[in-house]
Amino acid sequence: MPHANVAAARRGLMFVLSSPSGAGKSTLSRLLLDEETGSLNMSISTTTRLPRPGEIDGEHYHFVDQATFDAKIEADGFLEYAKVFGNCYGTPAAEVEATLNTGRDVLFDIDWQGTQQLAQKMPKDLVRVFILPPSAEELARRLQGRGQDSPEVVALRMSKATDEISHWAEYDYVVINSDLTQALSQIRAILHAERLKRDRQAGLVPFVRDLMAGLG
Ligand code: 5GP
Repeated sequence: MPHANVAAARRGLMFVLSSPSGAGKSTLSRLLLDEETGSLNMSISTTTRLPRPGEIDGEHYHFVDQATFDAKIEADGFLEYAKVFGNCYGTPAAEVEATLNTGRDVLFDIDWQGTQQLAQKMPKDLVRVFILPPSAEELARRLQGRGQDSPEVVALRMSKATDEISHWAEYDYVVINSDLTQALSQIRAILHAERLKRDRQAGLVPFVRDLMAGLG
């Protein structure tokens, strides 16, 4: 007898989380990845930005120089790329395709520009989630950091946050991160529901056919 789990092989989906910095996106991504080990892979972007202390090449980003980045654009090696805060960031195409083809989902921490490009290129695979901070005051507090940055740097971060938030309506889902546990459970619910979309489960067609045949 056919079994649903065997028949349900599907292509992975592309799960995008965008937010202004300071909205808790990296923490939420990390928690989700921990829960979904084996079924959700992080897309590791390529960037021309210099590594921050503690960042590891090949783990947080593929750190490259501008010439290497430009060569990859020329070779059509990115699914999307954009300039953010004066540095270039791009999603390597080959790694993502390979993961999707094994039926695993891919998590993207990319900005609105990259999300727009993915929506053009791969609309069927894409699920877009925007994370909002609970209030302007809370975001401002987080962006001020430990008070070690100059007022100009903080002001730049605030204006970037406003710019990013202005694109919230281009996303499929919106989550307000006032409580980390609740935000995580909402993001998890979105991922799990999207996996069950009928269109993604074309692999079930023979199973359902056999099921109906079995009923006579
Ligand atoms: P950071 O330098 O703080 O790690 O990231 C800065 C911004 O770049 C974040 O908003 C992040 O979402 C975005 N970003 C990181 N990787 C990519 C990428 O591959 N493509 C695009 N479009 N944005 C990215």
